[in-house]
Amino acid sequence: MRVWPLWTLRRPALVYWLAVDLAALAVISYIIISSQPPTAAEIGTFGAIGGTAGFVIIGSSIYSHRIGEDERNPWAAHLCYLTAGMVALPCNLMVLLLFGPALHGVLSHRLESHRWVFTLSATALALFGTRSIIGWEEPRTGIATMVFASTVLLVLRAALIAIGLKLRSPAAHRDEVVGEPIDAVLGVVAVSIGGLMGFVATAMPVHVLMAAAPMALLERAAQLPQWRRSAQRDAKTGLANAVHWDGRARYELSKARPRSRPMAVMLLDLDHFKRVNDRVGHLAGDAALSAIALLLTGTVRRGDLVGRFGGEEFVVLLPDAEPAVARSVAQRVRLAVADLSVDTVDTGGREHRLTGLTVSIGVSTTQRFGYELPDLLVAADSALLAAKGYGRNVVEMA
Ligand code: GH3
Ligand code: MG
Ligand code: MG
Repeated sequence: MRVWPLWTLRRPALVYWLAVDLAALAVISYIIISSQPPTAAEIGTFGAIGGTAGFVIIGSSIYSHRIGEDERNPWAAHLCYLTAGMVALPCNLMVLLLFGPALHGVLSHRLESHRWVFTLSATALALFGTRSIIGWEEPRTGIATMVFASTVLLVLRAALIAIGLKLRSPAAHRDEVVGEPIDAVLGVVAVSIGGLMGFVATAMPVHVLMAAAPMALLERAAQLPQWRRSAQRDAKTGLANAVHWDGRARYELSKARPRSRPMAVMLLDLDHFKRVNDRVGHLAGDAALSAIALLLTGTVRRGDLVGRFGGEEFVVLLPDAEPAVARSVAQRVRLAVADLSVDTVDTGGREHRLTGLTVSIGVSTTQRFGYELPDLLVAADSALLAAKGYGRNVVEMA
């Protein structure tokens, strides 16, 4: 039997995701069965909204593909014209609009298609839920109703999705569950443009075309968080890159200073890493770096800040860590690295299991060196140098 990724969800998440999917399916089936055929005017309105949206989204997808954007957020644009449909169309034509995101999911060959279906179902439920409040047959379009409907739509959709994501990974960070503040802004802009489109569409369908430019801008703006994240991340390991780590570390230190909270900086350098590259190849070296990045994030606490400092050097800021705690964390990391085995390929393309990696670690603490990041880094670096001098695979406290 083919293993669908959906079945890998934890039980409560699986039950919830399926319930949302089935509820959306039930609502859509009810609408299809119970609705009247649309009038010519309604079909015209549908054509104006769907045509404008299709033009923008297809254009933007082609552009996005050409510039090599791989992880995209297309939901802001979808939410925009779906809101227009909620305001201006009968429910059966709203269902037809849902083919937009559905088709997008199919065509973009998403790895997590069940997640796409879940998001689509949650969006559909939020849309029809809001529609039932503002008028199932004839939606009201007064300004107070529109503001209220937009709020309900966004909150309902975010809540339905957040519950699913929280059930899927209870330990997930808040940003992963409810999104970042910019996601909320994008949502508000999407439903605002959508509301205007819907309002205009009921009176003068062809004028909806005017919304193409703001919608295209929204589509582009929705990719900005992705660009920012990739600018902050190191591509090889997925960790914070040196610049981003530096900024965040300074911020954390400035927060800790007034309350004299103890912090520590851990600087790690792989031992004789050049030999790994020379003997097994650079691809194996890269695989080792990724494996160590994963190990580091898994070994330290959640609030700890892990970054790639340079080539085969990593850096971790440990908030609320007394020197003894910092030392034991460093020892734990050192032992975990020594235990690591990485499956990779050698220069001849043969499978190779890389073992025997070791790391030297220098640790500095705010208790001795204060809250200035450069001072802490210099101290950790000289401790690291001492650790190398003692024969490597050693933790040294500055
Ligand atoms: P030591 O124990 O003294 O640290 O020895 P070392 O060989 O690790 O130290 P050195 O600084 O001489 O060499 C670091 C090596 O790390 C050089 C380079 O080949 C390798 N390296 C740095 N960045 C990368 C990377 O992104 N990928 C791979 N595969 N290797 C890298
Ligand atoms: Mg080095
Ligand atoms: Mg090294």
